Amino acid sequence: MNDLNPAGWRPAMSADQGDSAAVTTFTGNRALHLEEPLLFEIGAADRCGVDFDEAPDLPDTLGAFRRKARLDLPGLSEPEAVRHYTRLSRQNYAIDLGLFPLGSCTMKHNPRLDEKVARMPGFADVHPLQPQQTVQGALKVINELAHWLIKLTGMHGVAMTPKAGAHGELCGLLCIRAALEARGDAREVILVPESAHGTNPATAAFAGYRVENIPATEDGRVDVAALTARLGPDVAGVMITNPNTCGLFERELKTIADAVHAAGGYVYCDGANFNAIVGRVRPGDLGVDAMHINLHKTFSTPHGGGGPGSGPVVLSEALAPYGPLPFTARQPDGSVRLVEEEDAPGIHPEGFGRMCAFHGQMGMFTRALAYILSHGADGLRQVSGDAVLNANYVLRRLEDVLEAPFGAAGPCMHEALFSDDGFAEGFSTLDLAKGLIDEGFHPMTVYFPLVVHGAMLVEPTETESKAGLDQFIGAMRSLAERAREGDPLLKSAPHLAPRRRLDETLAARKPKLVWKD
Ligand SMILES: *Cc1c(COP(=O)(O)O)cnc(C)c1O
Repeated sequence: MNDLNPAGWRPAMSADQGDSAAVTTFTGNRALHLEEPLLFEIGAADRCGVDFDEAPDLPDTLGAFRRKARLDLPGLSEPEAVRHYTRLSRQNYAIDLGLFPLGSCTMKHNPRLDEKVARMPGFADVHPLQPQQTVQGALKVINELAHWLIKLTGMHGVAMTPKAGAHGELCGLLCIRAALEARGDAREVILVPESAHGTNPATAAFAGYRVENIPATEDGRVDVAALTARLGPDVAGVMITNPNTCGLFERELKTIADAVHAAGGYVYCDGANFNAIVGRVRPGDLGVDAMHINLHKTFSTPHGGGGPGSGPVVLSEALAPYGPLPFTARQPDGSVRLVEEEDAPGIHPEGFGRMCAFHGQMGMFTRALAYILSHGADGLRQVSGDAVLNANYVLRRLEDVLEAPFGAAGPCMHEALFSDDGFAEGFSTLDLAKGLIDEGFHPMTVYFPLVVHGAMLVEPTETESKAGLDQFIGAMRSLAERAREGDPLLKSAPHLAPRRRLDETLAARKPKLVWKD
C-alpha cells in the first residue's frame, strides 16, 4: 500500500507459500512502521472478547423492537483490540512526540501535574445533577477560576459554560444581542476584519447578523479609518482578534473600542491568542466588552484531536447583566452556589438563557486552575514573554530564506507569519508543509490567514527549548531552499510517512464513511 522500500523488500513469509496460502501471514508491518487494517478486517462476527453467561429466560419486553438480524460488528479479543488502537496511535503525531508548530492554535506542552489534578476522583467522578452541597469543592474550583479569568482580563464577569472558543463567540454575540434588545435597539451588522478566523463570521451569521468585512492595512492590522467610517446605527458591534492572526498586536484597539462605543455598538475580542499577552495586557483596559478564552489553548488542556475544549467568556460591566445561566456565586457562609433559572428573576433578570445543559467542562476547569496556580501571576507573565521571544527567534532565523510579509514592521507576537513568495515556479506552501512531515515535524498552519498569499503561520509556544527550535529552524531552512530551487523530490513529499500525498479534495468531497466487505 505504501512504498517505504522501493528497492523491493519482501516480508519473511508471503501468502503464496504453499500450505499457509489460506492464512494471511503478511502483516504489512515493516520494522516499526505499522500498517493497520480496519477493525472489520481483523475481527470476525463469531469472535468475542468477553464470555457471557448463558442468557437467562427473561420475559420479552422488547417486542417489535427486538433486533431481527445480527449486527455484524467485528469481534476481537482484548489484546487484539488493544493492539489495534495502540498501532493506530503510533501512526499519529502528537505534542508529546515533538514540536507542533500550528499557528493560531497554541499547541503547547500540558504539564502532567494538571492531568493528575483533573483525574482526582473528587473532580473526575462528580455528576452534574449531584446536590450542590456534595460538590462544594468542584464549585469552588469553578468560582476561583472565574475569579482568576476576570482578574487576568480586567473584566467584570465571566460566563464559564461555553464549551469551546466558537461556542464562546456565540455566547458573546448573544449577550450583545440581549443588551441591544433590552434598549429596544435592534441592529443588523457585525464588522469582522479580513484576517479573522473563520469562526468569527460564521458565529455572527449564526447569531442572525449580517457580516461585513473590514480591510487590513499594509502592515497587517485592522484599517481603523475604514472601520470607523463604517460605524453607524445599524452596526451591533465588531469582532477583533488581538493579537491578530497575522501575529501582530492591534495597537489601535482602544481607539477602535471608543469609536464603536460612541456609535452605540459593542466590542467582541477573539481571545484565542491570549497566550501571547496573558499577565501583560488586560483586554478590559482596551475597551473590550466580551472575549472568549480558549482554556485548551492558553491554560493547559490537550487539544487538537477533537477532544473537549472550554471557552469561558469574560464580560464587561455593560454586558455582564445579560450573561447566561448558570453561574457560581459565593455565599456569606463561604459556600458556593449555582445561580439557576429559579433564582434568576430576583438575581439575574436580564440573562439571555443558557448555553448548555450543565455548568461547563469540569475537567478543563481543574486543569486550567491547576495551571494558573502552579505558575502564579509572575509565571503567567513569563509564559507570554517566552512565547513571544520564541516566535521572534523563529522569525529572525528564517526571514532570509522565507518571505516574512510583516517582518519589517517590527517584532511579532507569539507567531511568525511567512508567505510562499520566492518559491520556484509550480512550488507552493503545501509542498513545504508535506516536506516537513518527512523531517519528523507536524506541519505549521497553512493558507491561513487568507490575507497573505500561501501563508505559513508558525507558533512555537513558550515550552520549546532553544535546541528544539534550532532543529526545527534547520529543517525549515533546508525545505525553504529546496522550494526556492524547485527540488522535484519536494513536490512528491512526504516519502517517509505511512501514506504519501493524499487527494485531500476527494477525501473531503467524497469521504468513504461506511466499510463494505
Ligand atoms: C481556535 C480559534 C478559534 C476557535 O476556537 P475553538 O475552541 O476551536 O472553537 C477562534 N478564533 C481563533 C483565532 C482561533 O485560533
